[in-house]
Amino acid sequence: MTNKIVIANWKLNGSTTLLQDLLKPIINFVNSNKILSTIIIAPPIIYLYQVYSMIMNTNIMIGAQNVDIHLNGAFTGEISVDMLKDVNVRYVLVGHSERRLYHHEHDLFIAKKFKIVKDAKLIPILCIGETQEDYHAGMTKVICKKQIDSIFNLLGEQAFYNTIIAYEPVWAIGSGMIPKFDFIKDIFCFIKNYVLKKQNLNKKLFSIQYGGSVDENNIKKLCKIVEIDGFLVGSAALSLNRFLKILTITSKYCTNF
Ligand code: PEP
Repeated sequence: MTNKIVIANWKLNGSTTLLQDLLKPIINFVNSNKILSTIIIAPPIIYLYQVYSMIMNTNIMIGAQNVDIHLNGAFTGEISVDMLKDVNVRYVLVGHSERRLYHHEHDLFIAKKFKIVKDAKLIPILCIGETQEDYHAGMTKVICKKQIDSIFNLLGEQAFYNTIIAYEPVWAIGSGMIPKFDFIKDIFCFIKNYVLKKQNLNKKLFSIQYGGSVDENNIKKLCKIVEIDGFLVGSAALSLNRFLKILTITSKYCTNF
């Protein structure tokens, strides 16, 4: 068993007040309890520096919700990997379904983001998953395979070395619904075996997270699915009590090594 990674995706939520009311107590809690899970906070980009100054000297790490495919230049409104590194960001979400949907990000564009993040020695978190329609059509594996293949096509066999894949059924995000546990287990085995086969290695050198309506009530059962290496949490990460419960429970499923 490896330690669980818990990623808090704040999406378009946050304020300097929320940093004090939510992040500060999380830091205090983590400092005064033996929390073994790896915690990554992904706030809106404008708060990254403030989060950085607050979590310095803690075990909490910072994630970014987005990045541009260019390093610099005339790209108004964009943020580069070097800028993220400048404020100690270690992880970057790539291909979140909300960016695929609302910003029309397609597989090749997402693969380019994944590549620039990896080339910068940051860790990309590739979000994949099927829509409700695809789910009902039994297309989940086909969609996951397609989204994973687009990364292999651009980066080659070692694409997923030291990266994170987050399987997030689009229909489970923010809906309060999650797939049946047997289904999740089956998809995780599929993703793991598919990536291992493509990269021609027996050793699993990447991590696979589950995301989509993770909360304080289902986290214990999800932790029992050994194939899940961690969780991407949206709305429940914006409530102090709910998030602390999630951290406490995931930590019980980590090993101290
Ligand atoms: C997400 O945004 O990736 C997510 C999983 O959100 P929620 O937990 O709210 O479903």
